[in-house]
Amino acid sequence: MIVNFAPRPIHWRPMSRIRLHDLEFELFIPEAEVNAAVDRLAGELRDKYDGKRPLFVGVLNGAFFFAAELMKRLDIECEITFVKVASYHGTSSTGKVSDLIGLNERLEGRHVVVLEDIVDTGNTVKHILDALHDHHPASVSIAALLFKPEAYKQSITIDHVAVRIPNDFVVGSGLDHDGLGRNLPGIYRIIKKDP
Ligand code: 5GP
Repeated sequence: MIVNFAPRPIHWRPMSRIRLHDLEFELFIPEAEVNAAVDRLAGELRDKYDGKRPLFVGVLNGAFFFAAELMKRLDIECEITFVKVASYHGTSSTGKVSDLIGLNERLEGRHVVVLEDIVDTGNTVKHILDALHDHHPASVSIAALLFKPEAYKQSITIDHVAVRIPNDFVVGSGLDHDGLGRNLPGIYRIIKKDP
């Protein structure tokens, strides 16, 4: 039996408005602009890490999209791995390192670049950096697809940012609302209802 797997072309029609569960969103940053920002960021990282064989550490789930887009554009020798951050219950009885799930690589002496989908308050990034420093890397820097400067509460420098955005809830390009929206190209911003 011959099965015809001829691919159907997929064309996302950039919708200006979408609904995910109970919330409505409007197109905020079109895919082409996100791509241009990732191009620029890839250039920055290439200049900084060429010859250093960096280890990129993508933070799941949200960073899968950004990580893939970035990797396509990085023509240097590098490695990538992914971690999950276990939810943090305030009392750190489990210890810092065990809060990063899936980190199997030796980091000692490596140049590590953390890939985040979005940095909001910065608490997650702070938590990840604390855990990574216990492994004695040569250097650690952060690259984020999106950064909300108005919401940021930490003092750590976010070294590489693709796009700075206002303090609004967004979805798309890996970011979700309760599981939906990660596959949307571009970035969509919540439409606030009048109180
Ligand atoms: P932070 O610890 O910096 O406050 O936020 C970390 C996490 O909150 C992000 O990795 C992301 O999962 C979630 N988050 C923060 N802002 C947004 C947003 O605007 N949209 C979505 N979908 N998630 C967000």
